[in-house]
Amino acid sequence: MSWETTIGLEIHVQLSTKTKLFSGASTQFGSNPNTQVDYVDLGLPGVLPVPNREAFNKAIMFGLATNSTINSISFFDRKNYFYPDLPKGYQITQMNKPIVENGEIAIYVDNKEKIINITRAHLEEDAGKSVHDLFDGKTGVDLNRAGTPLLEIVSEPEISSPEEAVAYFKAIHQLVTYLDICDGNMSQGSMRCDVNVSIKKPEDTELGTRAELKNINSFRFIDRAIRHEVNRQIKLLEKGEKIVQETRLYDSDKNETRSMRSKEAANDYRYFPEPDLLPIVIDQNEINEIKNNMPELPKAKVSRYIDVFNLDEADAKIIATSKEMSKMFETAAAESMNPQLAARWLIGEVNALLNKDNVLLSESKLEINNFSALIIRINDETISGKIAKTVLEKIWETGDTVDSIIESEGLVQIKDSGLIEEICNKVVSDNPDQVAAYRAGKDKLFGFFVGQVMKESKGKANPKNVNEVLKKLLS
Ligand code: ADP
Ligand code: MG
Repeated sequence: MSWETTIGLEIHVQLSTKTKLFSGASTQFGSNPNTQVDYVDLGLPGVLPVPNREAFNKAIMFGLATNSTINSISFFDRKNYFYPDLPKGYQITQMNKPIVENGEIAIYVDNKEKIINITRAHLEEDAGKSVHDLFDGKTGVDLNRAGTPLLEIVSEPEISSPEEAVAYFKAIHQLVTYLDICDGNMSQGSMRCDVNVSIKKPEDTELGTRAELKNINSFRFIDRAIRHEVNRQIKLLEKGEKIVQETRLYDSDKNETRSMRSKEAANDYRYFPEPDLLPIVIDQNEINEIKNNMPELPKAKVSRYIDVFNLDEADAKIIATSKEMSKMFETAAAESMNPQLAARWLIGEVNALLNKDNVLLSESKLEINNFSALIIRINDETISGKIAKTVLEKIWETGDTVDSIIESEGLVQIKDSGLIEEICNKVVSDNPDQVAAYRAGKDKLFGFFVGQVMKESKGKANPKNVNEVLKKLLS
């Protein structure tokens, strides 16, 4: 029996503002617990929220970049629930009229483009954090995160495979980091998502009952959680059982999903309009101003790389995948004045390392300036391409600078022609049989001699010089 998968994502993006959505407290990550909390975040009586302009601007930027409607009037609502990390007893969110609606974003799977429609993107404040593992038998509450601005981006149920879901999450990640509205740091929780999954028969006209998988924060877990959940649903339906609409938790250690609560028992949030805040009014002038100051987006970058640097479209796309990688490329291209070389190393070696470790460039130890230094050293022939690979691997592990690795490992390329001749002579006299065979017409043996010289020089001889010297010696 064949089943179709339907997926819709709700992505929470932490907006990178200096201060919170409704208070002046800092949003800096990693500070001591409860040091970035003010009266508003504490929910003390008599204090009023003051909206943070910057959060609105960032939401509008997202709306513009996704061809969305920016509502000229939107509202805040209260979502009421009781939880220790929510001192006010309610979260301020946008329920009825979000700031951004009806957008779209392109995703690519197997080189095919698909447009995913974005239902809405609304502003809301984050809650604090319960800390369960610090005090024996007790739970701590850290309110540093309480009140941090979030943009919740809700997709239409138009995603039809785990690959598409990951591609969609990556596309949103790419966009919000390009726009600089979020730092994209997933291990610190700057982006996390709820994944809604259902299955149905191809001939069914209505979508199946969905389960919602809560709070997933990595590309890999999205993929695994969906695969697991789809299998669970197929098994149930094929046994003739029903799917209950519920919220489930994905446990990455056990690779399974568990029920948290069913929708019937769902909290009644008693939403109502937030009486402490005025409607958000945005006029066209403000939108135009933001539009005029938008950074260059991936699509424009790709065309520029094709025009200016003569890159292939496929290569340009790889480099434009992330803002970090394009910055790395542009810096190395400018400093080495060899864009082709910089592009080749990013697409080949750097990309291979990223895929091997399944990390983002921003999470790796390779810094922009260090990559640039590497390309400069290859370009000025201080090191050969082969040695450069070793150097890059060292940087990947340690983050040390190119020049310190070259120096401490004695990797400077040998261009001294006297020394190269000496090594070539030795290789020729050590291998009389091969020399005779080569001279008798076995041209392919030339590679053997080059290989021996490179081995003898521990990869440090400049291959161009080696070729020249060997040609002379063997003729
Ligand atoms: P709620 O407010 O209960 O979370 P929404 O209607 O806002 O529900 O939908 C939340 C998410 O679930 C959206 O991303 C939407 O695309 C997705 N979704 C809705 N119905 C389904 C379904 N049958 N299967 C998969 N995803 C769905
Ligand atoms: Mg939901």
